[in-house]
Amino acid sequence: MATLTKNEIKITTCETSKINSIDFSNLAFGQVFSDHMLTCDFKDGKWQSPEIVPYGPLTLEPSAKIFHYGQSIFEGMKAYKDANDNVFLFRPMDNIKRLNISAKRLAIPELPEAYFMEGLKALLDLDKDWIPTAEGSSLYIRPFIFASGEGFHASPANAYKFIIATAPSGAYFSGKVKVLIEEKYSRSANGGVGFAKAGGNYAGQFYPTQLAKDKGYQQVIWTDDTSHEYIEEAGAMNVFVRINDTLLTSPVSDRILDGITRKSILELAEAEGIKTEVRKVKVSELVEAAKNGSLKEMFGAGTAAVISPISGFGFRGEDFEIPEQDNSFGLQLKERIVAIQTNKTEDPYGWRMKV
Ligand code: PMP
Repeated sequence: MATLTKNEIKITTCETSKINSIDFSNLAFGQVFSDHMLTCDFKDGKWQSPEIVPYGPLTLEPSAKIFHYGQSIFEGMKAYKDANDNVFLFRPMDNIKRLNISAKRLAIPELPEAYFMEGLKALLDLDKDWIPTAEGSSLYIRPFIFASGEGFHASPANAYKFIIATAPSGAYFSGKVKVLIEEKYSRSANGGVGFAKAGGNYAGQFYPTQLAKDKGYQQVIWTDDTSHEYIEEAGAMNVFVRINDTLLTSPVSDRILDGITRKSILELAEAEGIKTEVRKVKVSELVEAAKNGSLKEMFGAGTAAVISPISGFGFRGEDFEIPEQDNSFGLQLKERIVAIQTNKTEDPYGWRMKV
């Protein structure tokens, strides 16, 4: 695999920074973008050297294959700055490896890990001032690859673009969400691309999610595509359920994304003395637990929100409430993970990377 150091990356800076036009005290999630982006082209059979350029529009042919065949993948990660202006990433190598797992499944050429890591470091060096420091805020990082090569033939493109764009983002707070257990539509199927972060996976979720919203729910709980008997993910997050004092989550599979928050939570829970079980969870078990009072908590887990508490679920026309917990495992684990991410505590796991 190709090597590269941060200093070998060509940098073209913007003429005027936009930073003074941004209200850092009032940041939404992923709505404003920092001054620069990393770009890297795949052409002539290889990934070319990455470059940093001003953030701005791209020019593509209408026949670029991304528009027709959706050959695109992405990642989501965050950079944090502590009180001493040190910058940290959380388990970035896991994102890089997952991007290449997605690349392989979508017949996109794998990216040299150093291009991603050193490119990201150089970008963060340059746009360091864009990393917000207010509690709960961070610089959201969006690495992605898409087919820029041309042709109407339904086959992999011969050219791709890898880009990293970043967005200073405030705390991702959606409040407690009410979810609908989905039995008709599926997010993914065995042998499909559910385990990859492929753009089309998300496009396919929008319509069923809108139907759930029309019924008064904010999010969908995806079930397995064959029996619809097992819960799998909560929107674009992994899902956890607490029954009595055990935290349950489904094993990852062809259909379920191997979330970095999910696996971190499983390790942290064990260390905090919380019993965990990785096993399939039946919808009927959830309904039963909600009825007999043993369903104590349910939450989504992912980079954006870290943990997104679920206040209740709908299933076959019936609504089930999950009462507020005094000793919420979700909140406890969120505090632990955020403290590690933001350098407020020791990191015995080696997850935090100073850049
Ligand atoms: N499932 C899906 C479908 C997702 O898109 C995400 C967000 N990347 C997750 C789970 C959570 O993964 P992570 O904790 O790595 O952000």
